[in-house]
Amino acid sequence: MIKGKTALVTGSTSGIGLAIAHALAREGANIVLNGFGDKTEIEKIRASVEKDFRVKALYSPADMTKPADIADMIHTTEKQFGALDILINNAGIQFVANVEDFPIEKWDAVVATNLSSSFHTIRAAVPGMKKQKWGRIINIASAHGLVASTQKVAYVAAKHGLVGLTKVVAMETANDGITCNAICPGWVLTPLVQQQIDARAKASGTSVKEEAIKILAEKQPMHEFTKPENIGAFTVFLCSDAAETITGAALSIDGAWVAQ
Ligand code: NAD
Repeated sequence: MIKGKTALVTGSTSGIGLAIAHALAREGANIVLNGFGDKTEIEKIRASVEKDFRVKALYSPADMTKPADIADMIHTTEKQFGALDILINNAGIQFVANVEDFPIEKWDAVVATNLSSSFHTIRAAVPGMKKQKWGRIINIASAHGLVASTQKVAYVAAKHGLVGLTKVVAMETANDGITCNAICPGWVLTPLVQQQIDARAKASGTSVKEEAIKILAEKQPMHEFTKPENIGAFTVFLCSDAAETITGAALSIDGAWVAQ
């Protein structure tokens, strides 16, 4: 039962995170939004979650690369809503270069945002979940949590690490009413991927449309982008009672990318 629970979604000012926040709010969860962006736009998003879904919505400006910000965000959520029931670790960034050219500060930023942030949120959230004997933790990993691609050394390492983190947390919380899973999407058309398509089109002198088709065909047998709303619906299922014994899993939603 999701109604009346509190869900925190990191990186929910855009893309997949925003779709997950909407999907959980539609089920009646109060929402903590987080992520970067224009203040006025973020306030519009927060107010529309409250109005459209008749739930409470807070916004936390916590920077997921900063452990103190993260601890403060979890503490504030528990104080404002009385509990943090559903934790969605979604904030993520990408950087593309060969390993020998990969800037050290980009490695640090990708690992901090895509991996360490989830350690910090989970570390702070699990005591409250254990106490109430109920919790759902969902880590948005990637097909790149299971297989590699060139030029994405930090992203692939961080997402593989996130799948490992998921397994350990699932084992440690298995008899506390808590589940912890990773969702591993293939290509989802969000600003994160649009940037990569635009850069490729610019570099090769092709059109954005052609590059979008190419990027799909290179990796996925199914030549379709997964919709952010599909990941929202998947998340709702993992929070339901029907999914109470699904834990420690890395669940693909990827047009058969990792089936190959
Ligand atoms: P996006 O760029 O649309 O959204 C990323 C969100 O993270 C934004 O809200 C942004 O503000 C936030 N964010 C970034 N750095 C942050 C920080 N330091 N602190 C707080 N918030 C921060 O990207 P998206 O495609 O929606 O990606 C969401 C997640 O899904 C990421 O973890 C990504 O790796 C993963 N993913 C995406 C795809 C895809 O094809 N788009 C595929 C697999 C996995």
